[in-house]
Amino acid sequence: MTSTPIDLDAHRSRTRSATAAWDLLAADLDGTLHLPGDQDWPAATLAWNVSVTQHPAAVVTAATVADVVKTVRFAADCGVRVTAQPGGHGANRALDDTLLIRTAALDDIWIDSTARTARVGAGVKWGALQSALDGTGLTGLVGSNPDVSVVGFCLGGGLSWFTRPYGPGSGSLSAVELVDAGGTHRWISDDTSPELMWALRGGGGEFGIVTAVEIDLFPAPEITGGRVAFPATDAAAVLRAVAALTATAPAELSVWASIMHFPPIPELPDEIRGQSFCFVDAILLGSEDELTNHLASIRATGTVLRDTTRPLLPGDVGTICEEPTDPSPGVHSSMMLTALDDDLVDLVVERAGTAGSLPLSQIQFRHLGGPSRTGRAGAFDLRPRGAEYAVMTLTVAPAPDLLAAGAEAMSTLFDELAPWSAGPTVPTLLGPSESLDRAFDAPVLDSLRRLKESVDPSHVIRGNYPVHGR
Ligand SMILES: Cc1cc2nc3c(=O)[nH]c(=O)nc-3n(C[C@H](O)[C@H](O)[C@H](O)COP(=O)(O)OP(=O)(O)OC[C@H]3O[C@@H](n4cnc5c(N)ncnc54)[C@H](O)[C@@H]3O)c2cc1C
Repeated sequence: MTSTPIDLDAHRSRTRSATAAWDLLAADLDGTLHLPGDQDWPAATLAWNVSVTQHPAAVVTAATVADVVKTVRFAADCGVRVTAQPGGHGANRALDDTLLIRTAALDDIWIDSTARTARVGAGVKWGALQSALDGTGLTGLVGSNPDVSVVGFCLGGGLSWFTRPYGPGSGSLSAVELVDAGGTHRWISDDTSPELMWALRGGGGEFGIVTAVEIDLFPAPEITGGRVAFPATDAAAVLRAVAALTATAPAELSVWASIMHFPPIPELPDEIRGQSFCFVDAILLGSEDELTNHLASIRATGTVLRDTTRPLLPGDVGTICEEPTDPSPGVHSSMMLTALDDDLVDLVVERAGTAGSLPLSQIQFRHLGGPSRTGRAGAFDLRPRGAEYAVMTLTVAPAPDLLAAGAEAMSTLFDELAPWSAGPTVPTLLGPSESLDRAFDAPVLDSLRRLKESVDPSHVIRGNYPVHGR
């Protein structure tokens, strides 16, 4: 292992051949070291959010846990920052002068249905874990997209379909296996390192490169769910009906509602191209008949264009919102709300109810409600927050000027929604240009910063939302 600082500029510009230090690392790995100029460099650096261009110093595609250990030690010795991404759903920066570890190959899944726990490698996606749970009567705290990694989701809070009955994803973390900033592979739990465990539950990827996590699983013997689609012209009435239902919904029922505008582009099918919809997405830990009863008042409110509600396996849950699993360009933001009342509905429908009224592709409300304040305590915790709903906005567009217009529209809309603000949002739902002070109150952020100084004083490890700001 070398202790000579790497001349990253010389390396990046390829004015001379790769340094001996990089060669040493490459020779030591079971996986692959990718350097700028390599044929596979574009694929190695690609973020899922393709509107974020990443140009790290180098990329290590780790094949083994030993690769992660060697790479972190190399980074610490050479004074290079190191970060991890399985796929880049949360990518938000160029990663200049940073060594990027791809963890996708660490994809082992062990399920103990008696203990109701799963141990998953750092590359495991929610879709794979949920499918592995089919037939067990158990579920993990999966979110809307099956392509997101379990580790990235749980480290950043994670709003799940099952947050109402069982809490956020971070609250399901029972133990974490990581490589710390000194390059030591460690098993972290509430027994061994309670403070660090608290930080890992929502504080993000700042405290070590995670190689695996152990999470709690939850009872889900019967799951019913799906999407009911209305024309966007029904949005005001449908959102009011959703507000009425969620005011009394049992913990087992989660209802999300969105207004969505599809652009008039040839790549989209006829049924949705250039059209706008109001979607009600729902999941119930219960039977199809029960869900039908719950949704009757909403279905009666407008013209039902399509209805996909049906009995689901755990592996189907990530399909409800029909989100893309292929890389896409976009900007998003989020906010927590105290209520979804008539004034808010009117404001949102006026601002975002018609395609082109704002350059937003989607605005989505997720009901949280009282029961969601459960799970293991951590840096992200819904308990002290007054959040009854989360609102998320998204602009999907291929051009930077359209994305900038979308980001500005979100900011303006959120300013108008300030009277309904329930305080900090979820770290996993921060937008690309935002920072952790939008997700944590000052005392929590201070605690995270103090812990970072004690476990990684040289700031070797870097998450996508650093505790010390951008
Ligand atoms: C289409 C889509 C749908 C989404 N739906 C939801 C949702 O329903 N609920 C929700 O809460 N969020 C949702 N998100 C946000 C998503 O949960 C976050 O972006 C999350 O951080 C993605 O994790 P990832 O590992 O897949 O992404 P990556 O970009 O690969 O990783 C994100 C960050 O997690 C940390 N990290 C990941 N792996 C490691 C590791 N091994 N060691 C240390 N740090 C690590 C790093 O800081 C990394 O930068 C969604 C995102 C997208 C794009």
